[in-house]
Amino acid sequence: MNILLHICCGVCSASVVERLKSEGHTVTGYFYNPNIWPPEEYLKRLDIARAVSREMDFTLHEGVYEHDIWLGRVKGMEGGPEGGKRCGECFRMRLNRTFEIFRKGGYDVFTTTLTVSPVKDKDVVNGIGEEIAGDKFLRADFKKKGGYQRSLAIAKEMGLYRQNYCGCEFSKHD
Ligand code: SF4
Repeated sequence: MNILLHICCGVCSASVVERLKSEGHTVTGYFYNPNIWPPEEYLKRLDIARAVSREMDFTLHEGVYEHDIWLGRVKGMEGGPEGGKRCGECFRMRLNRTFEIFRKGGYDVFTTTLTVSPVKDKDVVNGIGEEIAGDKFLRADFKKKGGYQRSLAIAKEMGLYRQNYCGCEFSKHD
């Protein structure tokens, strides 16, 4: 299948791209993460995603960094814990925009690297994806079969920077 892959960060994307390609799929990445703060951190993560796309030979499209709009979307949820309502809204914004790109593109399905993370609830991510796009969203749990560990191993081999917080200013203390 021709898959559009929302990429939350380069490190997470490594094992997902490797897996999807090994299953015979064609992968196009889309980096859209207006949640990341501060801007310097955003650019760092974008650079890593670019490096992974070069190394693993796939096309990477880059979304707009619209953190102010993202802040508006999570207004009133700033103080909640990671994994709560704010994160659901954050996933929804990113997957909604990925679906817009999907609809322009000639892809068969789209999905996201978000389920690589052991702290992201796959059912929440997949549920939102399916609400947005029905069967055009590819339900997945990329942390399975050692996906998370494999991403870390590839990152180490490539000498990639690894962040120590999820992304937004509200997750920095977690
Ligand atoms: S903790 Fe992570 S997933 Fe949750 S709102 Fe912040 S950046 Fe988004």
